Amino acid sequence: MMLGVLLARAGVGVTVLEKHKDFLRDFRGDTIHPSTLRLMEELGWLTDFLKLPHQETKSIYAQFGDQRFEMANFSHLPITTKFVALMPQWDFLNFLAEKGRAYPKFRLEMNAEATGLTFDGDRVTGVKVKTPEGAKTIQADLVVAADGRASVLRSAAGLVSEDFGAPMDVMWFRLPRLPTDTEETQGRFDAGHIFVMLQRGDYWQCAYVIPKGGEAKIRAAGLDAFRKAVGKLLPFEAARANAIADWDQVKLLTVVVDRLKTWARPGLLCIGDAAHAMSPVGGVGINLAIQDAVAAANLLWGPLKAGRLTLKDLAAVQARREFPTRATQRLQLAVQNRVIAKTLTAQRPVKPPLFVSVMTSLPLLSRIPARLIGLGFRPEHISEAIRNAKGA
Ligand SMILES: Cc1cc2nc3c(=O)[nH]c(=O)nc-3n(C[C@H](O)[C@H](O)[C@H](O)COP(=O)(O)OP(=O)(O)OC[C@H]3O[C@@H](n4cnc5c(N)ncnc54)[C@H](O)[C@@H]3O)c2cc1C
Repeated sequence: MMLGVLLARAGVGVTVLEKHKDFLRDFRGDTIHPSTLRLMEELGWLTDFLKLPHQETKSIYAQFGDQRFEMANFSHLPITTKFVALMPQWDFLNFLAEKGRAYPKFRLEMNAEATGLTFDGDRVTGVKVKTPEGAKTIQADLVVAADGRASVLRSAAGLVSEDFGAPMDVMWFRLPRLPTDTEETQGRFDAGHIFVMLQRGDYWQCAYVIPKGGEAKIRAAGLDAFRKAVGKLLPFEAARANAIADWDQVKLLTVVVDRLKTWARPGLLCIGDAAHAMSPVGGVGINLAIQDAVAAANLLWGPLKAGRLTLKDLAAVQARREFPTRATQRLQLAVQNRVIAKTLTAQRPVKPPLFVSVMTSLPLLSRIPARLIGLGFRPEHISEAIRNAKGA
């Protein structure tokens, strides 16, 4: 959506396909990072954007055993938007779609599922689409696979990914939030347990991190045992966990960390989760996907508009985005292996990892996590040409 809107603003004809009839999916990550907010500002949309209901997270806290740390404080970021905005992803997508509709070359087709690709020899020439009215083909100079981590198009293109593994899955659910509760978005690490709570106004979005493949065992032990385990981790009365009345309220995120070796072939480019599924560590998957979209728009609008797009242009997008993706995944894998796997198998009280104690005790070092989560490696900016464009 982000890439579609930016290209249309630059005057490139775009069709965005979405297989569902709306964007109303249950929780799929609600974090709009400072870097994305800065992009909204660069596009002149920040004021409108911040009118949408959201919460502003200025700090993130973590508790290891009984020691508490401020892990990231966004107030030091060298930008005006010094917070993570928590907003349902559908509101963000609808906002972008609305901005896109202002440009004559933007078209959004809902209920339109990409099922495969068309080829001319080695070159991708279009996409096969299933709609309620029947199947059709859309021809295009470029097909962008932004269809998430189970991407149909990257498989159809025969692109190969490397799987880096993950020691955990995540069970997501909501608990009611009372006005007397803390404001803080926080994570708790205790022997055998990791529990994260995102502050969402009148509810908490909770992540109960479990060993990989462990969901069946937890469900078999029963809802009551699950509520008790959750209750022990809450910073308020355990009985609040009784709000989980049914397993249907608990959604499983099967954690995948992978990356394509090559993100493109003639006529096709993969971005976002389709190119690299991110670990939930740091909650940066949306950020990376948006940053890919901006880099792709900056690099591709010119060749697309001039009708002279080559594989070299597409490779330039991978070259631009591979380092931030690789570096972020490397850090995530280190946290997964050194902190998450150890905590989930720990039998004794958990101590804070050395890097947490060191980083949070030195003022300048303590700014690093906020920078990595809030802005990431090599943050993108909207190019002057796209900023100044009006969609013609
Ligand atoms: C439970 C959960 C919690 C998460 N929490 C966070 C978080 O807190 N912060 C964070 O930054 N990230 C989080 N993530 C990761 C984040 O959601 C992804 O990294 C990010 O959304 C990737 O964006 P994307 O556009 O590449 O793919 P997606 O967001 O997956 O978007 C793909 C879109 O394509 C559509 N689609 C799929 N296949 C087709 C098809 N064949 N034809 C047409 N349309 C299709 C889908 O319906 C979807 O709208 C979470 C993910 C999950 C599942």
